[in-house]
Amino acid sequence: MKLHSLFALTASVALTASLNAAGAATPKQPNILWIMSDDHAAEAIGAYGGILAPLNPTPTLDRLAAEGMRFTNAVVTNSICTPSRATLITGQYSNVNGVRTLSDVLPVANQYLPKQMREAGYQTAIIGKWHLTSEPAAFDYYCVLPGQGKYFNPSFHKKGAGQWPDNIIHTGDNIYDSAHSTDVIADFSLEWLKHRDRSKPFFLMNHFKAPHDNFENAERYDFLYDDVTIPEPASMRDVPNYGSEATKGTGTSVGKRNQRRNMGDHMFVDKSLSDSEYMRVSYQRYMKKYLRCVRGVDDNVARLLAYLKETGELDNTIILYTADQGFMLGEHDYIDKRWMYEPSLRVPFIVRFPGHVAAGSVNDALINNTDFAPTLLDFAGVKTPDYMQGRSVRPILEGHTPADWRTASYYRYWMHMTHHDNPAHYGIRTKDFKLIFFYGLPLDAKDALPTPTTPGWELYDLRKDPDERHNVYSKPAYAKTVAQLKDQLLQLKKDAGDTDEKYPDLVRLWEKTSHP
Ligand code: CA
Repeated sequence: MKLHSLFALTASVALTASLNAAGAATPKQPNILWIMSDDHAAEAIGAYGGILAPLNPTPTLDRLAAEGMRFTNAVVTNSICTPSRATLITGQYSNVNGVRTLSDVLPVANQYLPKQMREAGYQTAIIGKWHLTSEPAAFDYYCVLPGQGKYFNPSFHKKGAGQWPDNIIHTGDNIYDSAHSTDVIADFSLEWLKHRDRSKPFFLMNHFKAPHDNFENAERYDFLYDDVTIPEPASMRDVPNYGSEATKGTGTSVGKRNQRRNMGDHMFVDKSLSDSEYMRVSYQRYMKKYLRCVRGVDDNVARLLAYLKETGELDNTIILYTADQGFMLGEHDYIDKRWMYEPSLRVPFIVRFPGHVAAGSVNDALINNTDFAPTLLDFAGVKTPDYMQGRSVRPILEGHTPADWRTASYYRYWMHMTHHDNPAHYGIRTKDFKLIFFYGLPLDAKDALPTPTTPGWELYDLRKDPDERHNVYSKPAYAKTVAQLKDQLLQLKKDAGDTDEKYPDLVRLWEKTSHP
């Protein structure tokens, strides 16, 4: 194993960077460890109490929640990997930071969060998944997967190993054999922590690749859940009033519903099985793979926490656990993200910081992923920069929800009918309702099929129907609510800077479909 020599280089690089920016730190700044996973739905965290909780999928994350605060209404503003990550780094909506789709690139100059952290005196690092194409040059140190990266023997772009993008190291060749990405990422984080500049507080983004598909778990989890039947979400087989003309037949299915894109195909399920049996087998295989990857994440979070405890830094470190978006795990017979539906929209958001954040607290304030950067900066003593659109959640974490806190969140997904057959849409989520406009138009030739789809509206009454099984958009009893939410949605859209001025067809479509 050549791990030691690899990190000797790391340490010298980090030391040089720290000397260049010496003197800015104050003893009051806490360390910040931001642990993120890719596609980890809140449903697949025990503390969130969903149908998977009895399987005890995440004992460590549950402990983190028991020692900190868990948010039940944390949502994203665009439920897809690269755009969400750009929002996390910029504190801006996709239409403002320019990363609306998987193929958009965030310029180095716009890596605001690490840049601000460094200026505030932090030693900064990102280790693991980055997925933003440009070099993470605003960090003092980085060791990131190229694109999605690999599950076994992953390669990394490593700061100090040459010029980007050729600064690649190969774990299979140089460091380990048969190493799993989740273990390697945690190992690299631990090594960085051990060799860091202790005269400064640290800001470390440890971002796992898991449990993004196509799943491969570490061998030690091969038999986990082998003799267990994973509970199915009720909406997987029973969706009487769900959806609209705009969404019928779209999205990747668990079972045979979408012949072109279904998970059974990827799980090698026997096509001769009945529809119902095919769905059952597909779901079981998919979920076991997913949950085995989740357990790998949980066990490695435990290693990071154990190290901080050992060094006496656990209680002076803010620990944040999130995902880049949520994920459909069979709800409405869907797999994948992209949708504004709850499992895909909602993310886990758990913060542990003893003495500041009450242990075992649960908060239902509506926060979104433009808020995450302002929150971490606030704890670092940095006022939210004007160009960030989110707002610091710190007062809420410290037990004081501002009276004028957000009551509605804006959402938009642009990638019309690409990859997983999801139509583009935008909408508003309040605590009580969700209104979605599927506008049916590809707006960007490089990310869209040429054919428009049927436009349509969906309204869910989350008070009575948290699983979104009844689209009540056309019910007369909701006419007033629909009108109010439409006004509010237009205002939110404008406030987010998303004007669609280049797309007059879309504006006309809103007007046409809004007054049937
Ligand atoms: Ca993701």
